[in-house]
Amino acid sequence: MTSSIPSDADARRAEPAIVCYEVNQLPAYDSNLFDTARVSMKKVDEVTVAPRDANTFNVKAGQFFRIVSVEGSQVGDLNLWNAHNLHERFFSGKTRQLHATHVSTGDRLWSNLPSLRPMATITHDTLSWYGFDQDGAGVHDVIGTRCDPYTNFQLKGVDYHYCCHSNLTRALSVHSNMTLEEAEPHVHDVLNVFMCTGFTLDTHQYFMKASPVRPGDYIEFFAEIDLLGALSACPGGNCGSSHSDDATPCYPLLVEIYQPEADTLQGWQQPAVNGYDRTHGAG
Ligand SMILES: [Zn+2]
Repeated sequence: MTSSIPSDADARRAEPAIVCYEVNQLPAYDSNLFDTARVSMKKVDEVTVAPRDANTFNVKAGQFFRIVSVEGSQVGDLNLWNAHNLHERFFSGKTRQLHATHVSTGDRLWSNLPSLRPMATITHDTLSWYGFDQDGAGVHDVIGTRCDPYTNFQLKGVDYHYCCHSNLTRALSVHSNMTLEEAEPHVHDVLNVFMCTGFTLDTHQYFMKASPVRPGDYIEFFAEIDLLGALSACPGGNCGSSHSDDATPCYPLLVEIYQPEADTLQGWQQPAVNGYDRTHGAG
């Protein structure tokens, strides 16, 4: 039953929208530093991610890495951890609050509490032209969590083993020599690389549409700390029709690691963990 409408409903709805966190209170994006470093950088490694599978990669603090579209339009689900402590990991929710539902050049990928520091900074995005379309959709979202076999089973009653959650779990298990049971809790909410998503304007439901990514497009990051990454080539392919099944064409993704000249990074230093004293008001 719909609730009764109060007489001052319009006035209540007309309250101004206040942006919760002011981005200008964060450290400024130093485009001069990163642009100079980018010019000098050389590729030192690359890792291929097979379709409907995931792979891991390591990036040292001070290096750049790119996620590159190859062969066909394909979405990737990215997890990031502190390479020395898997309990520090990418915090999709706070990244969304600090920046926006979709991220691009100049935005940072933040780690979870209590560290809450930039893990990586986005330094180039060939899809930044997309912006937000007439449906309110954008690219590279931090709103979706990742396709997973549990939600799929809940909705369809069948097992599917190549959802991004499972791909990331298998990849981390192999890389870190952990059992699947040990690895799975480390898998976390992702950056949906190249995925085009939004909320419907009427019911505010999460939707996806075919990604605008094409072979040769890439998103580039600067590693602020030593990182372990895992990337899944989503079984949804370009996520223009379905996911959590083998119905859609799927393509590999490429991760490239780049080393800039050391003297181009003068003035940059690894961010420290968050400065809050962690007493939480208890005496
Ligand atoms: Zn997926």
